[in-house]
Amino acid sequence: IESPELAFNDGNTIPQLGYGVWQVEEALAEEVVGKAFEAGYRHIDTARIYGNEAGVGRAVAASGLAREDVFITTKLWNADQGYDSTLKAFDDSMARLQLETLDLYLIHWLQPKQGKYLQTWKALIELQRQGRVKSIGVSNFTVEALQEIIGETGVVPAINQVETHPYFNQARLRAFEAEQGILHQSWSPLGQGRELLEDPVLLEIAARRGATPAQVVLAWHLALGNVVIPKSVTPSRIQENWNALGVVLEEEDLEAINALDKGADGRIGADPATAD
Ligand code: NAD
Repeated sequence: IESPELAFNDGNTIPQLGYGVWQVEEALAEEVVGKAFEAGYRHIDTARIYGNEAGVGRAVAASGLAREDVFITTKLWNADQGYDSTLKAFDDSMARLQLETLDLYLIHWLQPKQGKYLQTWKALIELQRQGRVKSIGVSNFTVEALQEIIGETGVVPAINQVETHPYFNQARLRAFEAEQGILHQSWSPLGQGRELLEDPVLLEIAARRGATPAQVVLAWHLALGNVVIPKSVTPSRIQENWNALGVVLEEEDLEAINALDKGADGRIGADPATAD
């Protein structure tokens, strides 16, 4: 199976199903990213703060895959926000990744109290202008912050990566992004593998569709048009998550999963509007 490619507003594309490596130790990253490539993934999501960019870079180099067949995302950490510090942090990430050109660079968190996100966004625009990164986007941005950076620069982020899963489905943010031509990317798409995967509604759909609960959740993200980056270091689960591409859900399944949303009570991670 192959992942669908979704189109960005800048003309580039992104494989809809990728592999995330938060909490994967540097020493393990090369091996598990190699497993993900074997399973079929071609899109890897890392970040400066994950401390494993070098391992991801070694896995890309060792894969034998052509550079244009692999899509790599990394993210600018909070402490590096600001115009000049962003340019420097980008160079450092690229050295660890051993890459000439990056596919996607994201501002990791809004950091409203720090208040440097607009200058940081301008630095990403410059990096894209220089051709060092193909596409630029954000992570953990609110509707209001998206409106501000678009209004100030005229450059619409390609994507916004935020916490999204059936207990916290981000319907309002997704509707705004769709109007603006911003793709939506789901972090912690499986709800970090906690009680979500034992929800009776998901267990019932999984049994009926001959899939696992994790596959049903991933198939829901894919059907909504979300870019999705599940994480696992277990080879059988890396493969299981990839095989979600073959799971077909009906409209009634999607509606039942949409109804699991708990609003703000469903949130696992920090609230971007206040996290500093
Ligand atoms: P996730 O929702 O992908 O859950 C991962 C956990 O779920 C695994 O550790 C494992 O315990 C379990 N799991 C995985 N596959 C399973 C399966 N098939 N069956 C049963 N259990 C399974 O959580 P995550 O790692 O938080 O998020 C995924 C990726 O999103 C991260 O690796 C990272 O790349 C990205 N992320 C980004 C941000 C951000 O601020 N931008 C924050 C969190 C995560």
